[in-house]
Amino acid sequence: MTAEDLRTEPRILIVDDDAVSVRLLAHILTGLARIQVTTKASEALALVLSGKPDLVLLDIEMPELDGFALCEQIRQQPGGDQTPVLFVTSHGEEALEVRALAAGAIDFIHKPVRREIVRSRVSNYLALKRQTDELVRLSMEDGLTGVANRRAFDRLIDQEYTRAARTGEPLALLMCDVDHFKAYNDTYGHVAGDACLREIAAILRARARRAGDVVARYGGEEFAVIMPRCSLSEALAISTSMLEGVRDNQIAHAGSHTASCVTVSIGVNAIVPTGRSAVDRQPTGAPNGRTLNTDVLTFIGQADNALYRAKQAGRNRMESHA
Ligand code: GH3
Ligand code: MG
Ligand code: MG
Ligand code: MG
Repeated sequence: MTAEDLRTEPRILIVDDDAVSVRLLAHILTGLARIQVTTKASEALALVLSGKPDLVLLDIEMPELDGFALCEQIRQQPGGDQTPVLFVTSHGEEALEVRALAAGAIDFIHKPVRREIVRSRVSNYLALKRQTDELVRLSMEDGLTGVANRRAFDRLIDQEYTRAARTGEPLALLMCDVDHFKAYNDTYGHVAGDACLREIAAILRARARRAGDVVARYGGEEFAVIMPRCSLSEALAISTSMLEGVRDNQIAHAGSHTASCVTVSIGVNAIVPTGRSAVDRQPTGAPNGRTLNTDVLTFIGQADNALYRAKQAGRNRMESHA
């Protein structure tokens, strides 16, 4: 979770070449959101990317770039389909409205604008956006531990692998499995087992703190940590700190054959991916039916093999691929 996710005040961006219209709309919407305005269509895209507005009010007729083209550009950005666009126009022709809705706009506001209608409509769309954001967040989050869930992991690993292949930067992946966890449940019960998983997730999260690092629950008592722009030596240092963090937390584990407290084993992999073929896809068997590139599957498999070797070598340790 980032500071960005915690923001509570919604944001609206108003784009209209007519300064008077911009001022009037901003005035009407006062108090509903933090409002940013521009009279330059050419600036709008950068403002969408930097400000991540919850709603964009877009004039259709602008000299540099019309609203349709701008709407399309917004949609083409990563995550741009989650930015609702509301067109504002002085025209009432059916064809124009159809075209705007086809371009991906959620609705229309007609000029001259009527204060109460605009405020109500915008309030409704902001409420809808809040609900959608919450659903997206819930669909990506593991209910027990609050870290990313498996669905989010599948999406992110694919994304980061592709990005690393493009930029030539390294990508690291840790697979982390709790040692003798079945015995922990058998000794202390599943409620305590759940609490233990929550603590371990928090420890992993506290040790993988760089921008872009993501801790995910891969399955039952297994966690995966994706670390973009992270070399093997950096990944090994972070894994060491995670092993220590879990040990230092001293959760008693009388059923463990490895130590008197809960420990984990970690498999480490780091690479600079080279040319991937987007066509070469095969199912992962993930419950959501998503598919991952075979290179990505190999990358995950190598981290998993390293984890297996850490288990074989006695647990409470890490091993790396190659
Ligand atoms: P190893 O050291 O080889 O990893 O042994 P292990 O006992 O940890 O591995 P095993 O795969 O035999 O057992 C995993 C256990 O994790 C069994 C399962 O009940 C438990 N588990 C999986 N998900 C949860 C969960 O959400 N809550 C609790 N409390 N236990 C879970
Ligand atoms: Mg205009
Ligand atoms: Mg396991
Ligand atoms: Mg285990």
